Amino acid sequence: MDTNAINVLLIEDSPGDARLIQEMLAETRLPPFALDRVDCLSSGLDRIAVREPDVVLLDLGLPDAQGLEGLGALERKAVSVPIVVLTGLDDENVAARAVQEGAQDYLLKGQIDSNHLSRAIRYAIERKQTDEALHRTLEQLEARNQELESFTYSVSHDLKEPLRTVEAFSQFLLDDYAGQLDAQGKDYLVRMGKASGRLKQMIEELLTLSRLGRQPDELLPVDIGQVVGDIRAAFHTALEQKGGSIEVEGELPCVLADRSRVEQVFGNLIANGLKFNRSERPVVTLGVRAAGSGTVTLFVRDNGIGIDPQYHDKIFGVFQRLHRREEFEGTGAGLAIVKRAVEALAGRVWLDSAPDAGTTFFVMLPRLQEVAVAA
Ligand code: ADP
Repeated sequence: MDTNAINVLLIEDSPGDARLIQEMLAETRLPPFALDRVDCLSSGLDRIAVREPDVVLLDLGLPDAQGLEGLGALERKAVSVPIVVLTGLDDENVAARAVQEGAQDYLLKGQIDSNHLSRAIRYAIERKQTDEALHRTLEQLEARNQELESFTYSVSHDLKEPLRTVEAFSQFLLDDYAGQLDAQGKDYLVRMGKASGRLKQMIEELLTLSRLGRQPDELLPVDIGQVVGDIRAAFHTALEQKGGSIEVEGELPCVLADRSRVEQVFGNLIANGLKFNRSERPVVTLGVRAAGSGTVTLFVRDNGIGIDPQYHDKIFGVFQRLHRREEFEGTGAGLAIVKRAVEALAGRVWLDSAPDAGTTFFVMLPRLQEVAVAA
């Protein structure tokens, strides 16, 4: 037995076709092929249970399996064995679907020669190995991400406890001993209170970030018009005081998402549009920019201070801010939350902005229905 040989399991009921394949493989010396043939799917599955071949050549018209049935059964039994489908000309469509469903390649009977067959087998094996390596890397990456997420979650959670104590005791000091402190002492305490308030907000935002980054359990229709209506109601007083407004161009669509993530996305973008704004009348406008096949892109435009293009990536980082806190309040987690939430919904977020030219954020999400694009 040649240990370098590529072990091929041929599942083919037609003795004529089987013989042809056998002859083609025999013609190729490098690499040598060791062929084993069975004439039905169940015998093929039995063979695989005893010893996995390097590759399976599968006929789609077997006595006990028609079309793609056989492929599914083989894939379940031998996850890491590449499968090359053999087919007659008239089921080329089925063969193409077989590739979508996991077969490495398909060969049209009557159109292959020895070189073609040998190459197809070698490539199928290489492709399968690459696929498997990629799959393993993705799994590792996913596991690392989950670890990191639960680490962020538990650290943030555990930090809340001592912080509550610091907050409570500095408040007790202020309430019960204020009379014994001079102005500077009170000022120190007030600063401590503010700093712990900020720390608390950052911890809350880290928790939100780790929660929203996970895939939502269920995707449901979410009406963005309603979400924006609720946000407008929540900003009502602030808008009246500032003389600003939240406007909608055209109709906002329904998307396939989960409501809390959509609220975070548009809540943060609208709040930023109103906050980073020195105009006499801050305006944030929302609408649909484009609708593609299965997706819709919304825009959130403001007439605010704008953002230099060199910072367009940076601002999506956690706790990244471009301004001093005295000028604009905030921790710098809002856009990181937006990005995580959009990506968890299989969407994308980006922006168009320049200093003093306002900012437009674009949010692409899976859409639920036909939508009209704002003029
Ligand atoms: P925060 O609002 O807490 O500062 P964000 O993560 O929401 O944090 O935003 C990060 C930074 O990006 C902000 O500090 C600000 O400098 C800039 N930024 C975000 N949105 C806008 C906007 N609409 N216009 C101008 N600058 C913005």
